[in-house]
This record gives sequence, C-alpha cells and structure tokens, in this order.
Amino acid sequence: MRQQTALIPTLRDVGAEAEVMSHRLMLKAGMIKQLAAGIYTLLPLGHRVLRKVEQIVREEMEQVGAQELLLPAMNPSELWKESGRWETYGAELVKLVDRHERDFLLGPTHEEVITDLLRNTVSSYKKLPLTLYQIQTKFRDERRPRSGVLRGREFLMKDAYSFHADEESLEKTYQMMYDAYSRIFTRCGLEFRPVEADAGAIGGTGTHEFMALSSAGEDTLVFCRACDYAANIEMAEVQVPKASDSGLTVAPLEKVATPGAKSIEQVTNMLGIEPAHLIKSLLFIVDGEPVMVLVRGDHEVNDIKVKNFLEAEVCELATEEMVQQVTGAPVGFAGPIGLQKEIRILVDHTAAQMKDAVVGANEGDTHLKHVDFQRDVLSYHVADVRLIEEGDVCPQCGDAVSFTRGIEVGQVFKLGTKYSKPMNAVIHDPNGKEIPMTMGCYGVGISRTVASIVEQHHDDDGIVWPLAIAPYAVHLIVVNVKNDEQRDVAEELYASMQAAGVEVLFDDRKERAGVKFKDADLLGIPVRITVGAKVGDGLVEYKVRRSGESGEISKTDVMEQLPQLLKQVAALTKRIKNR
Ligand code: ATP
Ligand code: MG
Repeated sequence: MRQQTALIPTLRDVGAEAEVMSHRLMLKAGMIKQLAAGIYTLLPLGHRVLRKVEQIVREEMEQVGAQELLLPAMNPSELWKESGRWETYGAELVKLVDRHERDFLLGPTHEEVITDLLRNTVSSYKKLPLTLYQIQTKFRDERRPRSGVLRGREFLMKDAYSFHADEESLEKTYQMMYDAYSRIFTRCGLEFRPVEADAGAIGGTGTHEFMALSSAGEDTLVFCRACDYAANIEMAEVQVPKASDSGLTVAPLEKVATPGAKSIEQVTNMLGIEPAHLIKSLLFIVDGEPVMVLVRGDHEVNDIKVKNFLEAEVCELATEEMVQQVTGAPVGFAGPIGLQKEIRILVDHTAAQMKDAVVGANEGDTHLKHVDFQRDVLSYHVADVRLIEEGDVCPQCGDAVSFTRGIEVGQVFKLGTKYSKPMNAVIHDPNGKEIPMTMGCYGVGISRTVASIVEQHHDDDGIVWPLAIAPYAVHLIVVNVKNDEQRDVAEELYASMQAAGVEVLFDDRKERAGVKFKDADLLGIPVRITVGAKVGDGLVEYKVRRSGESGEISKTDVMEQLPQLLKQVAALTKRIKNR
C-alpha cells in the first residue's frame, strides 16, 4: 500500500479524555475514529489488524471442528422473552421497534437465536456434538463506554456455541475450546491468564475468563504464587476463619451518640476504635426486596457473591431514600439490631464471629457498642460475601494470594440446559427419550483483543506490533521522493516486495524525513527499510522496531535477507508464558 494514497490520519496529539494508552495510540496512529460515545469506525489500518486477529481466531476454531455461520444481529424480542432475558438483561440491551410496532433488539450475545436454530434443525443425539461460531458486531449500551474499543457500545465478537447430548461431551468440547483460546491469545502475542469467573448475565454452571494482564484492565485477578490458583476477584472464595471462642463476656449493648459520623473513618475516629471493630451494614435491593449485608469495617462487600448466594437476577445498592425508608435512619446509621421491618440479613463469616463490635443503631447520629453478634442479632444467614484481599489465604493451597489487573479478552461457559430447557430445545436420546440439549458458549472480544495487544506492546514512541498481527510486516520509506535515485530504488524494492507477497506499506509521501520516521515509530510496523542518501553507495538501512537494532545492507540483498529478518522479528515478539 502506498502511504501517499492511504487513509492513515495520524495525529500528534489527542484529547485528555483518551486516558488509556491503547485508546491514545489507536487514535494517534489513525486506526480508529469515534463516531459517538463507544462507537468507532475502524479505519483501514485498524481494520487490517482486526482481520489478522479474526484470521487467527478462525484458524483455531476450524482446528477444533467449529463451523462458521452468521446469525442475524437484529433479533425478535419473542425469543428473549422465552429465555426471560428480555426483562433481566437490563439497560445494556439495545431495544427497537419496527414499523409494525413489534419489539426487536440488537444482539449483545446470541444464545437465544442459536438455540432457536438448533431446536428447529436438530432432533437426534446422532447429530451432536455440534459447535457453531460467528464473527459479528455486537451491541451493548454500556453504562460507561470508555477506553476506546476496549469497551464499546458496538464491538466485534467471535461467539461460538456447542450442543451436546450429555455433560461428558460438553466437558470435552469445553476443554478443547479452553485450549484453543490459549493458542489464540498466545498467537496474538498477549500475556494472559485464564481465571475462574462469575457467569454473569450469560448464566450456566462453570466458566473461565481469559485475562490479558494490563494495568489498564478493569478486572482484578487474584492469583497464588505457590500454586496454580487464579480467579476473578468477583469469584475468589474467602476461606472461612476458624471460630475463635475467646470466652470473652461482652458488656450489655449500649447506645452511643455519633453526631454526623456516617463513614467508617468518621465513626472510628470519633469512638477511637479500629475499623476492624466495626460492622459495616449495607442495604441492597435484591430482586426488589431489601437485604442487609454485613461485613467487618475493614472489609468490602462483594455484591456478586451476594447475588449468587441469594440466586438473584438483580442486586443493587439501595438509594438513600430506600435506606431511610427501611431502617428509619439516614445512610451511615443502619445496622442489624432493632430494625422496624423484618428484612433478610446476610452476614459474612468474619463479621458473624465478632464480639464487642460497633454497629449503626438505625437511628440518626447513633451507633450501638458492645455488640456480640451471635448474642444480639436474632435472625441472619452466614455466607462468604466479602471481597478477598491481597494477603488473604489462597482457597486452594493456603498460601497468601496476590492481585494483578487484567482485561477480559475472552470467556468460556458451560451453559448446561440454561437456555435449552426454557426454550424447549430437545433431542431424542438413544432410547428415543426427549432430553434438553446440553450447551456451552465461548466468546472472544476481537476489537478488545486488538486494543489489549496495543496495551501490552508499545513504547514511548508508539505501537510495537507483534509480527503475527501487524498491519504490515515491512514499512518501506523513501526519505526524499524528489531524489530520482532514491525514488527509483524504493519503487523497485516496493515492486519486488509486492511480487514476493510481503505485506508492505510504502511511505512515498512528500513529507520531511522527521515526520516520516515519527509516523513510522507510531505505526509500529515490525521492520523498517529506509532508502536515503546512502543509496548512492548502493546501501539502504534496516531497522527493527522492537529492538531498535539497525544496520545497512546492500540494496541488492534486501529481498534475500528479508525472510531472515522477519524470522528474527517473529522470535523477538515477547512470547510471554502463562505465568
Ligand atoms: P465485561 O465484563 O468486560 O463487560 P462481559 O463479561 O459482559 O464483558 P461477555 O458476555 O463474556 O462479556 O462477552 C464475550 C467477550 O466480548 C468478552 O470476553 C470481551 O472480550 C468482549 N466484550 C464484552 N463487552 C465488550 C464491550 N463493551 N466492548 C468490547 N468488547 C467487549
Ligand atoms: Mg465475560
């Protein structure tokens, strides 16, 4: 491709609203352009990288026998009403009405549509297992579209669905997909980690997320250096502390005035106690019902655990008005003792063992002290509802866990019969009995993967593409197009590279050398061949973007040496092992 005619609108600067590096660099390198919040055009350069990732995904899907199809993005609401997700999916669902006043949606994921397809086309176990996949634009009206294509409202996803006659067959495919995902992200040059995860709105019985390690990630990963344990913090189990009956007799409950002290910090300062001596009481609205969740003052509630424990669809923190209504006190003074209304109380293991603690008194500006939880709170459920913390015990081996941040680039789910049952997608088993199909589903965020690669592969000057997904392998630059000799040699090399099938971007622009080199660093194409003043001596310069290694070679040796150079570059790409 000639750069003179290519649409690669590089920018020297971008607005401060682009905070994360991949967003800034993709804008600067002219890969993407925003149309509306979370909605981007993939410009030619961005599109080339997207296609490379797609190609890797396709190859690995075909390798495990998955068949490609294309499902409609516009879906009738009826299917989503059948599964129940028309109501439960929430505000992310992009709904629309057609000219006949019928409800439709733009698919954020396609379990319903594919289940409908299978129930209408497959009726016997003999056709199973079957794995189908597509690469398609998905729509989610994200609350906070941010970070460029890392979290878009319209984005490209590969979604695969597998169908089975039994659980055993699902396990096999799940493992194959898990392995295929590991190969995909390795080939994309990503440092990643598969972690145990929450099934979220997709549902099902078991799931792993594939996390690209990055400080720009929105997810916290919990892992253990002593064993192979790794989980999303949303899921990471906290070990139940050993009951320690100190035999301590606690003084009777006592009200204490805490005027204006709403936060943990204010209360502990006022009473001269540590946060670990206080019980934090948070009110949630779970499927429409108030639930009070209690953790020790220095711990945080994990609302996903609350939601899963209560087997709920929606779990949200109550508004200030609701807190006032339910507890009779403003936010900051809620507690489990003396509630006027009977509501469910869910307490974390550690908090349930507390003696001589402080809690809100359900009265403005008042707390209670000398709380012996088991003595004073009458009715409650104990569960693991707190966030694990760095240094807590590893649920698998007992060592201390560590944290790191990651971007979820893919997720695999065992769905079981979550969709086939309500949608009546059944097959005949070998005995002729009707059984629901067992399902799995598997997603890769293609556009998010591209951004994650940029997150991991850049330096101060720009992007540093791994060869396998680079938009071009070679950046050929002619320093001065007005110099006949330089131009002729560059044109000749360009023609030879094209004939040899080398993916080459040819900077034939009438720009200053400085501009050309700055752009070249920004675009991050792995190998640069520069035709400049030395061409009079028959020499051109090569430079490896990643290592900075450069040298001169004879113009007549370029084509011969290029394969070797590219091989070297491929080996250079940080092949970071799964840690
Ligand atoms: P997240 O928790 O980040 O919102 P998710 O768990 O809801 O993602 P899935 O339903 O598992 O996403 O979708 C499969 C894959 O699609 C994700 O692993 C991710 O790579 C990608 N993806 C999801 N939402 C977005 C988005 N808004 N923009 C870009 N990619 C996305
Ligand atoms: Mg997910």
